[in-house]
Amino acid sequence: MPSETCIFCNIVSGEGPCVQLYADNDTTAFMDKYPANDGHCLVIPKAHYHTIFRDAARGLRFARTQGD
Ligand SMILES: [Zn+2]
Repeated sequence: MPSETCIFCNIVSGEGPCVQLYADNDTTAFMDKYPANDGHCLVIPKAHYHTIFRDAARGLRFARTQGD
């Protein structure tokens, strides 16, 4: 369930500004607002996860499928 206070859910919904690089049904990728280096981008699931650690099984399954 999307969270009204989650910056990533805000971006996924289109309300938050971003420079989008990629999107499909489950995933979106965009340039980091505060990049640590050139080309720093974020790849996130469109579903809300509190943390990857708390929801590790679902979050890691998502990450693994993106590399296939
Ligand atoms: Zn979220």
